[in-house]
Amino acid sequence: MTTTALITGANKGIGFEVARGLAVRGATVLVGARDEGRGRAATEKLTAEGFDARFVHLDVTDSGSIDRAAAWIGAEFAALDVLVNNAGITGELEGDGKASATTLANLRKVYETNVFGVVAVTNALLPLLRAAPAARIVNVASEVGSLTLTTDPESPFAALGAIPYPSSKTALTMITTLYAKEFAGTPIKVNAANPGYTATDLNGHTGFRTPAQGAEPIVWLATLPADGPNGKHWGHRWGDTEHEYGELPW
Ligand code: NAP
Repeated sequence: MTTTALITGANKGIGFEVARGLAVRGATVLVGARDEGRGRAATEKLTAEGFDARFVHLDVTDSGSIDRAAAWIGAEFAALDVLVNNAGITGELEGDGKASATTLANLRKVYETNVFGVVAVTNALLPLLRAAPAARIVNVASEVGSLTLTTDPESPFAALGAIPYPSSKTALTMITTLYAKEFAGTPIKVNAANPGYTATDLNGHTGFRTPAQGAEPIVWLATLPADGPNGKHWGHRWGDTEHEYGELPW
């Protein structure tokens, strides 16, 4: 049976490679993008490679766009097997990058996409996810949202100061555990993925992993078997050369 997977922010970067990774595994991929031109171009790239890819206009900060996307997916497929909440932004670098330099405007903007957008998209698609035999929801989080890692003075993330991006990912991992608890005992699994530091537009291509590598833990969580984990933050572990992938601390 073919599975159907929606990836938000799939027109480039890690999201595009998640779409490709799921398509390689036989899924029909729904390429969510807020810009129609960029979304259609990415979808055509995948169809040119022989994959079943469809463009879905989806701005995760726009409730009308979310409702229209959910209605279209419902009419076309009646169920959704995989939801990858990948769309994310870092916000502006403000002042010296310290917590006190953060403006509420920047904080709100980042939360609209990275936090509120995830809840809005997930709740709108839950009827279709429930209609699938064993849906998988993957929230693309980050190691910079880990309280344990960012408060460890020895950690490479200890110097982070600005509030918006790291705290949005901390909120996202909490949100992940709350959905996971709600669906414990059902076939649905909800996990947070850490792609690791990946070269994309998000960081001016400074990351040391490729987008395809960043997509790996996300694809893995999106295709978990019935005995796979639920409610975990899992993915790339910076500096752990022995276990490159594994569970991350909260
Ligand atoms: P990217 O190349 O900048 O891609 C971000 C994607 O999100 C783009 O497709 C962008 O669309 C989309 N997007 C932004 N706001 C949106 C909105 N309101 N509605 C729909 N789509 C929206 O960044 P990336 O590195 O691939 O990031 C993907 C995810 O991985 C993010 O959640 C990020 O926080 C996470 N992550 C990245 C890294 C890293 O090192 N790169 C590490 C850990 C976690 P447009 O093209 O229209 O802007």
